[in-house]
Amino acid sequence: MLNNIYDALRSSIPMPDAARFYGLEINRAEFAACPFHPDNTPSLKIYEEHYYCFGCGAHGDVTDFTARLFRISQYDAAVKLNADFGLHLTDQQSVPMQQTVSPEVACRNWLHSAERILNEYLNMLCRWRMEYAPKTPDEKLHPHFVESLTKMEQYRFLYEQIRFGSESEKRRLYLTEHETLRKLAERMKQLTAVKSAPKRKAI
Ligand SMILES: [Zn+2]
Repeated sequence: MLNNIYDALRSSIPMPDAARFYGLEINRAEFAACPFHPDNTPSLKIYEEHYYCFGCGAHGDVTDFTARLFRISQYDAAVKLNADFGLHLTDQQSVPMQQTVSPEVACRNWLHSAERILNEYLNMLCRWRMEYAPKTPDEKLHPHFVESLTKMEQYRFLYEQIRFGSESEKRRLYLTEHETLRKLAERMKQLTAVKSAPKRKAI
């Protein structure tokens, strides 16, 4: 019986998947260089549901690993894993997650949400270019207008790669653009929150 999100994460995300996903190289003996101490000989053993370092003694499950690696709390690590692996677990998780999410499914889920976020962002940049365009030649440029000029090409390229790229390209993006998209999603959320906040009536 799984009692909470930590149990659910442990049984949904194999430890080796998370380790690889966050950049560790695991050798055939299932050892990786330990990111928690200077490690010349790989001494971090990656088991299916936990890890143990024979060098520094670091050990724990997938949530412990993520928390330690990114120096974040256990709770934030759980939220991050939930998002990065495209799971939809909640804090009150009481129903056991039966199926393990395969890396392929996680990748597909990520691509799907990345496409949506990028589409939203690009639409917003288009709007900004019109709305915040300077009305006179000597007007100071609005940051939104500047952003619409500087970011458009880079993100449109990313969007097109995600939509039309080859499978291997998409897989690479999934591994490399995670942080970019996570930050963008966070920012979009904030921008939407600001926009939908009740406006004061002009006097
Ligand atoms: Zn270690």
